[in-house]
Amino acid sequence: MLRMRKNSCDQITVRQHRAPIIALECDICDRRTDLDRKVVVRQFGASLPLRQLRRRLTVGCSRMNCADSIDRCQARFLDMDVGNE
Ligand SMILES: [Zn+2]
Repeated sequence: MLRMRKNSCDQITVRQHRAPIIALECDICDRRTDLDRKVVVRQFGASLPLRQLRRRLTVGCSRMNCADSIDRCQARFLDMDVGNE
């Protein structure tokens, strides 16, 4: 079974995210996004990795998309109820 580090979303897909609301928060950008899981599934499909969803949600984040392509954005998913963790 899948073992997870905290706040790791590398291997997790929307399907494995079981909470009804997918919440993404970035402290340094003062950003908070709440998404209805059903809407995400309808738009992107349940097999979309959360890592890619995070990318999509942080398009406007200058820390995520800086010139040297180092990801400094601290956006993370909250309240994840994933697999058997
Ligand atoms: Zn950010």
